[in-house]
Amino acid sequence: MFENKKIFILGMARSGYEVSKLLQKHHNQILITDQKEQDEKKKEELESLGILYKTSNHPEDLLEQDYDYVVKNPGVPKDHPCILKAKSLNIPVIGELEVAYHFLPDNTKIIGITGSNGKTTVTTMLYDILKQANQKVYLAGNIGIPLSKTVTEMEKDSILVIEISDHQLLDMYHFKTDISILTNISEVHLDFHGSYENYKQTKKKIFQNHQQNSIAILNYDNEEVINLTEDIVSKKIYFSKKDKKDAYLNDGWIYIHDKKFINISDICLQGEHNYENIMCVLLALDIFDVDSGVIKKYLKQFKGVEHRIEFVEEVKGRLFYNDSKSTNTESTITALKSFDKPIILLLGGYDRGHSFDPLAKYMNHVKKIISFGETKVRVKRFAESQNIPSISVENVIDATKAAYLNAEEGDVILLSPACASWDQYTCFEHRGNEFKQTVRTLE
Ligand code: ADP
Repeated sequence: MFENKKIFILGMARSGYEVSKLLQKHHNQILITDQKEQDEKKKEELESLGILYKTSNHPEDLLEQDYDYVVKNPGVPKDHPCILKAKSLNIPVIGELEVAYHFLPDNTKIIGITGSNGKTTVTTMLYDILKQANQKVYLAGNIGIPLSKTVTEMEKDSILVIEISDHQLLDMYHFKTDISILTNISEVHLDFHGSYENYKQTKKKIFQNHQQNSIAILNYDNEEVINLTEDIVSKKIYFSKKDKKDAYLNDGWIYIHDKKFINISDICLQGEHNYENIMCVLLALDIFDVDSGVIKKYLKQFKGVEHRIEFVEEVKGRLFYNDSKSTNTESTITALKSFDKPIILLLGGYDRGHSFDPLAKYMNHVKKIISFGETKVRVKRFAESQNIPSISVENVIDATKAAYLNAEEGDVILLSPACASWDQYTCFEHRGNEFKQTVRTLE
């Protein structure tokens, strides 16, 4: 499918860079474009491989009829002029994952993970445990490792654990998993998809091409998940925090197929949402018959993924937590539900136009809000509507210092911004690291 073709790659980033190299190896002729100037070294490397790179604000002007495919970066909107032109020229538009899928070695078992929240946590745990259980397993996807890179290292008869975002699902056609996990669905990324319905239908693509022997691991407590998957043909396996399903939580235990598996006191991760994540993982591992001793040992020590309700430090009795990955209100709610101490909340960032009102019901422990970033005025208005004192500052450094000055012993200072970071930072990791570095300067 991708041999001796002429391929246009729209958007560099990590995935464009990797997919261009993968396609070049298979004798395709490639033009890659991006609106941003790229690192000189990378450009030189691509050029030395015979890949043509061009910086352009109007990539549509470079797209001609004789291209066989356009490979679109997941962040590029579907109504980008270049995508519209490709469609008018009848050139198929596909994603990097779809391309790399066609290069997977024989007999790869694919576990695909999607959902509004919890993807990276579930993906990380699954991969780590399979690895520790000595399985031949590989990691890829939205977790920051393009499949186009992983695929070049893979051997046949192995397992691929792959995190898939809704942006990536949009441009997938033949891609098929053996096991799909849908952690939960809530209203996020509406700016990109235009409507909640579009977003949900995109998420449903994780089950596309499934047959009756394909497996769907689903959140029984999430009504949207249940409604959305009503007509899929996959074998459905459920987890629940309240009902006796394939995995469930009862009296402080996680049960798998009605048998006690692990007591929550033996799990290092905190928060009910994490028990949901763990149940997803246990149901997937059950299919691979992984030794329970390995799983239990892992869960006893796994502290979570960086930037997700990550404990940073205690400074003079004030507890700092970094939840920079909370880029929507749903995950900030998750963080708020995880504490029963007084909270000073750092809220704000890139303005998607989304409302902060969904947080209102969960503010009972929040004693002060420090707002920052592009949304700081709207956050302040939200704080006023809740009668919570607030302070507006410019960025995370100032917010961290202001929070510290206003905190008392025993308070939690929580960066859980409910906004993306792109107004001031390159990514949420950048924002979280700035928070952590600032905390370390406080005394
Ligand atoms: P994703 O990769 O889907 O963004 P992460 O595992 O990176 O998910 O977690 C992102 C944020 O969502 C974290 O701040 C975390 O507290 C919250 N979160 C994680 N798992 C869940 C879950 N199962 N339900 C709700 N919120 C969750």
